[in-house]
Amino acid sequence: MRILVTGGAGFIGSHYVRSLLLGSYPGYEDVRVTVLDKLTYAGDLANLAAVAGHPGYTFVRGDITDPRLLSEVVPRCDVVVNFAAETHVDRSITGAGDFVTTNVLGTQRLLQAALEAGTRTVVQVSTDEVYGSIARGAWTEDEPLLPNSPYSASKAGADLLCRAYHRTHGLDVRVTRCSNNYGPGQYPEKLIPLFVTTLLDGGRVPLYGDGLNVREWLHVDDHCRGVQLVLDKGSPGEVYNIGGGVELTNRELTGRLLAALGVGWDRVEHVPDRLGHDQRYALDCGKIRRIGYEPLVDFDEGLAAAVRWYRDHRDRWRPGGGAR
Ligand code: NAD
Repeated sequence: MRILVTGGAGFIGSHYVRSLLLGSYPGYEDVRVTVLDKLTYAGDLANLAAVAGHPGYTFVRGDITDPRLLSEVVPRCDVVVNFAAETHVDRSITGAGDFVTTNVLGTQRLLQAALEAGTRTVVQVSTDEVYGSIARGAWTEDEPLLPNSPYSASKAGADLLCRAYHRTHGLDVRVTRCSNNYGPGQYPEKLIPLFVTTLLDGGRVPLYGDGLNVREWLHVDDHCRGVQLVLDKGSPGEVYNIGGGVELTNRELTGRLLAALGVGWDRVEHVPDRLGHDQRYALDCGKIRRIGYEPLVDFDEGLAAAVRWYRDHRDRWRPGGGAR
C-alpha cells in the first residue's frame, strides 16, 4: 500500500510515519510512505531521521493548499492520512488566518484532489476541541460541534467538509477526534514540552488561571495506533473519538511534572487565563473500542519517558511560546 502522510514532519505525523515504516503495524511490512509537509516552525526533518534512508520513504516539501502539487502527489498514493495543520490554540488567538488557510482550505483541496485521483480512503486527523467544553460526562461522536477557539473552529470546518465530501461525492473519508497528545518530540509550545523544557532550563512555567482546566491525556503511540485502526477497520463517512482515558487538571499535571523534575511550586508563575479557555474535554471512546481500540501506554511511564527524552535531546528544542 502507498500512503500519503500530510504533516508527517510534525509531532504526531512523524510518530505515525516511523511506526508505519519501522514495522509497528502488522500487514504493512511493504508499505510505501510519501510525506508531504510544508515544514512550518512546527515541522522538523529531524523527526524523520530514523526513516530517512528507508527504501519505502519519500519526502516532498510542499503545502496542502497547493492544488497543482496535490494533483501530482495524491494520485501516486492509495490512501491519504492528513495530519497537516496549524495546531497551537494560543497562536490562533493572536492570528487566525493561517489556521483557516491550512486547516479549512488545505483540507478541502486535499479532499478534492483525493476525489479526482480516486483515492481509496482519506483519514482526517481532528481533535476533541471541536466539541467545545463539557462540565461532566463525555462526548460521543454525535455531539454537536461547538468550537470555542479559532483553532478548533478551523478544525470543525475541516470535519464538516469531510462529511460533505462523503455525503455529496461518496468519498471514503473517516475522521478521528483525539484528546491531548503527549510523548517525545513535541514542539515546545504545548503544555507538557513547554513546561519540561522550561524547568530543565531553570525557568518558571506559566500556569493559566486557576489551573483547574481538565484535559484528557493520550500517548502519541496510542493515538497513532487508533488512527491505523480506523484506516484498517473503520467505515467510510464515520467519525471516531480516540482518548487516553487519563483526566487531569492542569494543576495536577503541573504537580507531576514538578515532581518528575525534582523542583517545587516556586517554579510556577500564575498567569491570566487564556481567552475563551475551555474548562474540560472528555471523550467517550465506545465506538472505536468496538473495532478493537485500547490505549496501552501507562500515563506515568509515558510521561517519565517523555521527560527523559527532553532531558536527553536538548539539541532538539527551540524556544516556544504559550502553553496548551
Ligand atoms: P504539529 O504542529 O506538531 O505538526 C503539524 C505539521 O503540519 C508540521 O510538520 C507542519 O510543518 C505541517 N504543516 C502545517 N501547515 C501545512 C501545510 N499548509 N501544508 C503541509 N504541511 C503543513 O501538530 P501535531 O501535534 O503533530 O498534530 C497533528 C494533527 O493532530 C493536527 O491535525 C492536529 O489538529 C491534531 N491534533 C493534535 C493534538 C495534540 O495534542 N498535539 C490533539 C488533537 C488533535
